[in-house]
Amino acid sequence: MNKGKLRRQRKNDLNILVKGINLQRNNPEAITATARRLFSLLEIAKKEGNIDSPIKFLQSQINLSLDSSGTTQLACKKGCSHCCYIWVSATAPEVLYVSKLVKKMGEKVTKKIRQANDFTKDFDFETRHEHPNPCPLLNDNVCSIYNSRPSACRYAASGNADICSRAYHGLSNESIPIPTTHIRGSQAYSLAFAIALKKSGFSYHAYEFNSALIRALDTKNAQKAWLSGDDIFSNVQKETVDIFSDSTAQQFYQSTF
Ligand code: SF4
Repeated sequence: MNKGKLRRQRKNDLNILVKGINLQRNNPEAITATARRLFSLLEIAKKEGNIDSPIKFLQSQINLSLDSSGTTQLACKKGCSHCCYIWVSATAPEVLYVSKLVKKMGEKVTKKIRQANDFTKDFDFETRHEHPNPCPLLNDNVCSIYNSRPSACRYAASGNADICSRAYHGLSNESIPIPTTHIRGSQAYSLAFAIALKKSGFSYHAYEFNSALIRALDTKNAQKAWLSGDDIFSNVQKETVDIFSDSTAQQFYQSTF
């Protein structure tokens, strides 16, 4: 791409990013703009040995999109935590970011995560929902890292808390009425971040939160090690579906760069 085109693309991207990805409709341009920005921030993170910038950007863009999505029928409120009892997915940068907070929270929290992991580590993505168990970062039914919680937790919204209370605790097979905007947000931002991670040469998978956190906490200089290319999460349980097994995701990757 020549310099003029690149300049126009950057200007266009900035205009798009100010509004975030519009979750009311399909938004391919906004997904590629977000992926390009995340890629730039990941490259800076590599140099600085610090993962915070791409994660803070991702979190603020997701908040921006969800806040302006116009979804009003949510049953979710503080103290409702049914969705915190099942498998939680998080990308490696999100795990590294949260692990730094956990270290500051003290040994008691780390112990809680180890205990939770002792219970959840034997269940994979397909079977974990049959064994509900609270996320160790829940405190009196409130997320103790709410502003820093993984992206997956931000999309876990519902229009009916009664259904959640049954379905997330293994008492029924009802489908959770997740608003379309949240499903679209999950798909769009997961894809944008996966594209950026892949382009940066990192693993783009979504890992099981408890075991990935333990791996990060038990690895010396985990953040620096991962950012310098050591895939410390390589044998941690992850979601079984590879986002790039889908041809649309591959096309998005091609059209982003
Ligand atoms: S990180 Fe927070 S929101 Fe996510 S599952 Fe754990 S307690 Fe719930």
